[in-house]
Amino acid sequence: METVVVEGREGRTTDFVGELVVPVVTTYRDDKPRWAEFRLYRKPDDEGYVIWRTGNSLIYHSIDSDCETRDGRESGFPKRVRDLDKDAEPCLKCQPPWPDQMPGDTEVRAEEPRHTVSHCKNAAEVVDSLTWDPKTKRRVWTEPVSELLMAANKADPAFQSISQSPTIRL
Ligand SMILES: [Zn+2]
Repeated sequence: METVVVEGREGRTTDFVGELVVPVVTTYRDDKPRWAEFRLYRKPDDEGYVIWRTGNSLIYHSIDSDCETRDGRESGFPKRVRDLDKDAEPCLKCQPPWPDQMPGDTEVRAEEPRHTVSHCKNAAEVVDSLTWDPKTKRRVWTEPVSELLMAANKADPAFQSISQSPTIRL
């Protein structure tokens, strides 16, 4: 197994020894400016699992935008137009001009990738962490999470025993 370095919140990194249980699951589509990626790693010697979730975005807001993130913070971080991703797209709500209609040194607020790293003791905790929505306090089986867990179910015997639980249907 290799040492994996993952990005965490606010540019911090975490490293651990492990391997991907299943290939990365992504919701990327080329007509959607925001998408999520899910990576599930297994650590050696029954030390558990690591889930690395990334929210990606190509959206930028005007510099004086009132747009907020789901948790109520100002959307995006200041960036010059010339430093934007070549596929960057203006926010539909605050409607800044397209990049080629602004001087390169104009500042906008570009959304950046958001990373969440969760350490789990076992497969049950992985299922718990992936399906729990803290906002609504309910179990939510989103499409990418179902895809990831179904793949894990095939790749790792620890997930097979969980899928036989009556409350969890994979
Ligand atoms: Zn906006």
